[in-house]
Amino acid sequence: MNEFELIRQVFMPVAEATANPAVRLGPGDDCAIQRLPPDTELVFSIDTLVEGVHFPPAYSPRLLGWRSLAVAASDLAAMGADPVCFTLGLTLPFSDAVWLKEFALGLSDAAKHFGLALAGGDTTRGSLTLSLQVHGTVPAGQAILRSGARPGDLIGVSGTLGDAHAALSWLSESSPSRQVRALLDRYHYPEAKLALGQLLRGRASAAVDVSDGLLADLGHILAASGVGARLFEKRIPRSAALLALHREEALTMALSGGDDYELCFTIAPDCWPLLEAATNLGELTLIGEIITDSGVWLNDGYQDRSAISAGYDHFGGCG
Ligand code: ADP
Ligand code: MG
Repeated sequence: MNEFELIRQVFMPVAEATANPAVRLGPGDDCAIQRLPPDTELVFSIDTLVEGVHFPPAYSPRLLGWRSLAVAASDLAAMGADPVCFTLGLTLPFSDAVWLKEFALGLSDAAKHFGLALAGGDTTRGSLTLSLQVHGTVPAGQAILRSGARPGDLIGVSGTLGDAHAALSWLSESSPSRQVRALLDRYHYPEAKLALGQLLRGRASAAVDVSDGLLADLGHILAASGVGARLFEKRIPRSAALLALHREEALTMALSGGDDYELCFTIAPDCWPLLEAATNLGELTLIGEIITDSGVWLNDGYQDRSAISAGYDHFGGCG
């Protein structure tokens, strides 16, 4: 398949299957055209995944299709954006019809699931690399920024943390147990928390998606807002599978492991009950509070310890 056949046979069908009215013109011209409703702002972000760096060599193309879009869509969730469309920059060392078909299946599943239309892209030859630019919209002025956290705000997080990181050591397991499968699913099928992000819009004071680890990503909110945080160690949500398989390291993994794509957000205390009352968004856990003093303090029920002196690497993740 040459480049044009590849686009026509593999990616045009994905574009057709995922089309939505906000994309006035999809692939096939020099640019795509996106309609913007009045009083909305365009929210966009690009993520690049390189083989051997962001996903293992010879990774399943179908899983890669899902994962690459989910990871990109997660940034829209963190801003509280409504998903609209995406473009795909695909660099391939080869043109393997079976690989491409599988990749397109995973990509198409994710695009339908997250409500993102494939609006265009670029296809080149080279080491396997994917760049996905995602577009969303928010009512003007309502995107959730990292810079809005204030002392006294509560810190919440969705789902459980540490699972995707723990999965890394099981990626080549040929007959995984039920619990290992639960961890692997978290790595292979990240969920962008778009509905939660939309619910947080107008309520949360700041939000971030947990891609590099809770401490690292919460650290971005703290730095942008000029505040610190106290986290209640016992409340950091850890799954039954993580606790069963990695009991000793579960807290470290939940604090520092990346790839979970949950949302971490800050919110004024009087807004918290409104969130808890909302259904269908899975578990939300209150894990701490924003304080004036800079740094992250871990409270074990008795005292505060600095996350750094307690041995948790702020920026590196635990892997
Ligand atoms: P140009 O040379 O004008 O940049 P291209 O020849 O690269 O255009 O692409 C032709 C059309 O195919 C464009 O509309 C582009 O958006 C689309 N396209 C290219 N690669 C992809 C891809 N991987 N997925 C979806 N659309 C693609
Ligand atoms: Mg052109």
